[in-house]
Amino acid sequence: MSTIRIGAHMATKGDVSTVPKRTTEIGGNVAQIFVKNPRSWKTGEIKEGMKEKLQAEMVKYDVPIFVHSGYLVNMATPEEELRKKVMHLISNEISMTIQLGLKYYNVHPGSHRGTGEKEGLERIVRTLSEVMSMFPNADLCILLESVSPKGGNIGYKWEHMKYIMDEVGDPRIGVTYDTCHGFDAGYDPRTPETLDMILNEIDKNVGLDKLHMIHLNDSMYPLGVAKDRHQNIGKGYIGMEGMKNLLSNPVIRSKSIVLETPEKALTHADDIKTIKRILKELELH
Ligand SMILES: [Zn+2]
Ligand SMILES: [Zn+2]
Repeated sequence: MSTIRIGAHMATKGDVSTVPKRTTEIGGNVAQIFVKNPRSWKTGEIKEGMKEKLQAEMVKYDVPIFVHSGYLVNMATPEEELRKKVMHLISNEISMTIQLGLKYYNVHPGSHRGTGEKEGLERIVRTLSEVMSMFPNADLCILLESVSPKGGNIGYKWEHMKYIMDEVGDPRIGVTYDTCHGFDAGYDPRTPETLDMILNEIDKNVGLDKLHMIHLNDSMYPLGVAKDRHQNIGKGYIGMEGMKNLLSNPVIRSKSIVLETPEKALTHADDIKTIKRILKELELH
């Protein structure tokens, strides 16, 4: 059986090369990071020698790393001045991703801020096309993450992803399925039939080969409520049975599974333990 990749969003703690080791310490073998402060417009830079240091640690601990964009990135913003700032920020984050020798940059498509989905989609296509053209030869993959249908968000339907990918027309674009965000949008992964419907939907629109990451999060609110509140594995409305159903699916298991669950009462290490317990029950680990 091929390795099941499970891990979490990790803090870099000022030295990104510590992420692979710390990931193994919580029981993981894949990670997601921010390359810089996700709340700041200030650009960041990669220190000399960091790529080599990080890559050596990734090989040593066998931990691949995905990058998540910062919170200020909104490719659909209706204000042109702001869109230029966003372009500057994304290109900085992508260039830092490349400088670290990483390939996958996960981003929320964006919010149209009340101007309507059609216009929002057009601006995402324009922004993303411009961004991709700045890195013509890079071994890069942009992952459009499925989001909650709130605040003018685009990307809560797989049709949105298809539209963006078709219009930009760059093969270096893929998708991430966030189970909490999907649940917010009415995609129910709790039964084999409804999970198959979700995967068929992804396959029909963008192709399952374009699905590179699963953000495995439980949801604090019921199906379709769209609050975007992540919950620990098995502790929310997707619940233990829903998680079992997700993890018993071979397509889900073949992708990199990254947790973005809250670390309050429980930690990512606890959630990874829960997942491993489920896999054991399913006799898959
Ligand atoms: Zn996200
Ligand atoms: Zn997510």
